[in-house]
Parts: sequence; C-alpha cells; structure tokens
Amino acid sequence: MSVRYSEVGMTSPRTRIRMAERLRKQGIEDEVVLAAMALIPRHVFVEEALASRAYEDVALPINYGQTISSPWIVARMSELLRNKRNNSLEKVLEIGTGSGYQTTVLTQIANEVYSLERIGPLLTRTRIRLRKLGIRNVYLKHADGIDGLSEFSPFDGIMLTAVIPKIPEVLLGQLAAGGRIVFPKGSEQQYLCIIDHTPEGFVETILDEVRFVPILPGIINR
Ligand code: SAH
Repeated sequence: MSVRYSEVGMTSPRTRIRMAERLRKQGIEDEVVLAAMALIPRHVFVEEALASRAYEDVALPINYGQTISSPWIVARMSELLRNKRNNSLEKVLEIGTGSGYQTTVLTQIANEVYSLERIGPLLTRTRIRLRKLGIRNVYLKHADGIDGLSEFSPFDGIMLTAVIPKIPEVLLGQLAAGGRIVFPKGSEQQYLCIIDHTPEGFVETILDEVRFVPILPGIINR
C-alpha cells in the first residue's frame, strides 16, 4: 500500500520523520506503526490554516465540534491494536472516522479496514481525502457505529475513537477469537482500555488517562 504525497516545507517528509522519532522517544516501540506515522501526511487531514501545526503532538479541531486525535494517541492505540504481532491484522473495524487520519494509519497495519462515522458531511470530506491519497483497502460507511458492522464481522481488531462508558454486547459479539478492542472508556474521567477475546472470555485492561469526545447516538445528514 503506498501513499501519494507531493508537499514540501513545513509539511515535508522530513517533518514527519522527526515526528516519528519523537514518538519513539515517548515510548512507541512498534516499528510498523512508527513507519506508518512517518509516511502518512497528517497535514492533509486538518484545515489548511492549521497545516503547519499538524506535526505537533496535539489534537486539532476538524469541524462539527470534533477533533483529530494527537499523533501520540493515534500511535499508542495503533500499537495496542497490533499487540506486537509480526504480520498484518486481517480485518479491522473503526468507529468514529472523523478526519480519516487514524483510519489511514489502520490501512497500513491491516489488510482490510471498515470505518463508521455518524456525521455525513465530515465523512464526505474524508472520503475525498482518502481517494486522493490512493488508499484502497478501506470501506467507509455513514452510520451510527454503536452496533458495529455485523455483515463484515468478525474483526480481529476494533477501535473506537470516541469515549464510551461500556462496550455494548453486540460489539463484543463481532470480535474474533484472539481479537482485541482498543477504546477510551469512561465519561468525565477517561482511560484507554483494551478488551481481549481470550479462550477464557473477555479480559479488560485499563491503561493511560486520556481525553476524547463522546460517542453519540444517531446520524447527522448535514
Ligand atoms: N480518529 C478520528 C477521531 C475523530 S473524533 C480522527 O483522528 O480524526 C471521534 C469521531 O467519532 C467524530 O468524528 C464523531 O462524529 C464520531 N462518532 C461519535 N459517535 C459516533 C457513533 N455512534 N458512530 C460513528 N461515529 C461516531
């Protein structure tokens, strides 16, 4: 899978490589994730006025009251989803496409990516963006993601990019044996959380404190 880019200056490949080196110093160890972060032009996913800040380690606004997660969070969640495996993930579901940046990182670590977004106009822009980048192993759908995507399940990885107090049963049912869900858990206080589908059942582990926008019900058309 290749990503097309032609930009120079503040947003050049060198800036991205520096960002990946910074992430490594901050504790990201997975080389596949670091390579993806060094490759994908993050500035393409933010408003033009913010492009020069795209490689700082901050979350930025992407319209409709939503935010693109910080590079560190994207790297951390991707690393957790990969779970130190040597090969690619096969099928991954993302709930909360937003700008499509995390989605694009997922397309580099999984063979097939399915991503759901409830805000129609946001998804339309992301669709155009991903097409321009030449990303093909992704299926985007305008939907309330809370019920997952049963017609393409089971997934060996599921990622939520908005916070939820508890993972619904129906999503657990779409996680393959051996698979993992990575998501921000909570409401006021939030923690990165993983749920592993083990032979003994679903095992939950709570990790770093984080800050995300909430999962909301229903879809918005315009
Ligand atoms: N990974 C994205 C994060 C965007 S913020 C990025 O880095 O750009 C979280 C996104 O989740 C928002 O776009 C929001 O609209 C979406 N979202 C919230 N609730 C949802 C739901 N029930 N179904 C699908 N998407 C949802």
